[in-house]
Amino acid sequence: MAKFIFVTGGVVSSLGKGLTCASIGMLLERRGLNVRLQKFDPYINVNPGLLSPAQHGEVYVLDDGTTTDLDLGHYERFTNTKLTWYSSWTTGQIYQRVFDKENCGEYQGATVQVIPHITNEIKHCIMRISGSDIDVVITEIGGTVGDIESLPHMEAIRQFALDVGKENCLYIHLTLIPYLKAAKELKTKPTQYSVGQLRQIGIQPDILICRTEVSLTQEERTKIGLFCNIATDDVIEEKDKDFSIYEVPLSLTENKLDQIIVDKLQITKAAPLDLSDWRELVSKLRNPQHEINVAVIGEFAGYRDAYKSTHEALEHAGVQCNTRINIIWKPSGDVLQQDSKHKLKSVNAIIVSGSFGESEIDGKIEAIRIARENNIPFLGIGLGMQAAIIEFARNILKLENANSTEYDKNTPHPIIAPPDEHQTFTNETGALKIGANTTVFKVGSKIHEAYYKNQLAYERFRHRYEFNNQYREQLERSEMLISATSPDSILVQGVELTNHNWFVGVQYHPEFKSQPTKPHPLFIALVNAAVAAANCVKSNRK
Ligand code: GLN
Repeated sequence: MAKFIFVTGGVVSSLGKGLTCASIGMLLERRGLNVRLQKFDPYINVNPGLLSPAQHGEVYVLDDGTTTDLDLGHYERFTNTKLTWYSSWTTGQIYQRVFDKENCGEYQGATVQVIPHITNEIKHCIMRISGSDIDVVITEIGGTVGDIESLPHMEAIRQFALDVGKENCLYIHLTLIPYLKAAKELKTKPTQYSVGQLRQIGIQPDILICRTEVSLTQEERTKIGLFCNIATDDVIEEKDKDFSIYEVPLSLTENKLDQIIVDKLQITKAAPLDLSDWRELVSKLRNPQHEINVAVIGEFAGYRDAYKSTHEALEHAGVQCNTRINIIWKPSGDVLQQDSKHKLKSVNAIIVSGSFGESEIDGKIEAIRIARENNIPFLGIGLGMQAAIIEFARNILKLENANSTEYDKNTPHPIIAPPDEHQTFTNETGALKIGANTTVFKVGSKIHEAYYKNQLAYERFRHRYEFNNQYREQLERSEMLISATSPDSILVQGVELTNHNWFVGVQYHPEFKSQPTKPHPLFIALVNAAVAAANCVKSNRK
């Protein structure tokens, strides 16, 4: 039977529980264990895909089309575990399952209550991702201990140990030890309260992971342990990483976290840990040979984490290409300002991100024009590809006011529009296509080259609108090459310019498939093109 690790958070939110869970998953996976990760989010929403990136950070998409919280992106970047719709649950979704069961008469007239019906459903969803081949299930409980919303989850994970045996469960509590600069002291009281609340619910944490700005002394760890009823060795320090999130697993293993987990859960099959590739990755991150500036254009560019996966994918490609990447976040609307346009001309690469009709598209189109006319390496993602086609249609094919019907229902040239079932393009709102699908590349194209001459890839989509095939012949006669399509060739999924340094737009989201040790080919190709162009400028100037 699998072993179960529950990770809760205390004192404040945003302590990096997702990263800690991902790091624990990564360490255990690298000790030869088969790991599954999942997250319960306390909010009532039933569709995380509808949450605003401004409030919640990016909406992350899994292969099976599940839209989730961005923490699942950390899980996929740090581990090779398979995530499915069973890996992500909101309170709303749990309640919905209970309502559906009640409607089907499954409760046979019983009064439906938080305990046992909601808690049973939570336990079922935890059990459901374990299996005979799984060694460890890691369950992250979103929110902070003490929140009203997370009480049913706390109750469920408490009961879980009764069901499967305490020896098969481990409770890890991630907490904050604030440092008071004036007093030059670390304060343990908030953690004592937080653990006290957990114990009131009936959960005694086995391991405490302490987020802190400054190192904990042995005495401080002993004091925290004493007040929280935890052995000093099981009080683990997780010092703030001013440099990179990829250092987190290294510091956790230095503090013996993986060994403590393996010992406590009595996992006898755990292999020794080899992190040499990961250490090399961090050292490459610290010692880049090149440096480039990449502008990322998106409506939510002013919000931290709204394009988390794009940020990470750039960092991964930077490691591979020995390049430090400075990201310049640019809200789409700002691009239209004169000084922004000017500044954009001097960056080494431009990315135009995906988005859903939230704001105007003209800033994106302008950024694309600048990339196209100035030979600046460019990657368009989702709407970024659609906007690249619109820009080309307006300025090169001279299709005046060409647009996507998402932005202008009455455009004379609906070059982007949702197709109906007969592939006739309409100006209705299209059905959402979501999840991973095969995309096929044109041999000899830049995309084909970037993917190491593989002819197809399995990529994640999330969109409603498509390139309108009524304009296909016209596009095919131009310098905009259709270089990726659906396997039946009908849907355009990637375009590029044949007369440009490196200008690629894809309908899918490559950022969701990038890992630090396996960067996505399109991000590598973009960074390589930017570095090559930057070097070329340098030598021209000599
Ligand atoms: N809003 C566009 C569509 O629905 C693009 C979505 C995206 O960027 N993935 O087609």
